[in-house]
Amino acid sequence: MAIVCVVCHQEKRGAPVNDDLVIRSIRRIKKGIAGITTRYAPALMRFLPEHFVPQNNTLVVCKDCMEEHKKRRGDFEKNLVRFGALGFIMWALLVLFGRTLALAFFGFVIFLVMLLFALPYYHPSLNQTMTAEVAKGAGKGKKTKK
Ligand SMILES: [Zn+2]
Repeated sequence: MAIVCVVCHQEKRGAPVNDDLVIRSIRRIKKGIAGITTRYAPALMRFLPEHFVPQNNTLVVCKDCMEEHKKRRGDFEKNLVRFGALGFIMWALLVLFGRTLALAFFGFVIFLVMLLFALPYYHPSLNQTMTAEVAKGAGKGKKTKK
């Protein structure tokens, strides 16, 4: 288990990111794939691309990548809101004009699919409480700046 920056993918220390739904899902999928492979085709394990092997790394944003992180997170949030709003409008229209439960449900599915469109822009958020702790911990050893 290593501490890896989510932007530059190097083993560096930094501010930890949140284990959110997307990261947890990716971990679960990786674990599933690795589990099935180990169980039914252990010989294939060494052919499994590194990206599919659960690393359980601690994900952080290193100091050098903080600017890039802010940009990527901002882009993701913008797209999530954009696609979310679009999906919500379509859902609302289907509920208002469709007036059937089936269409309302279909609208909800559209809403979820629209949210998935933001996924390619996905970038995790920083864990604020842990970030504060890390900052505090890092400050302990150093003398305070004037
Ligand atoms: Zn980095």
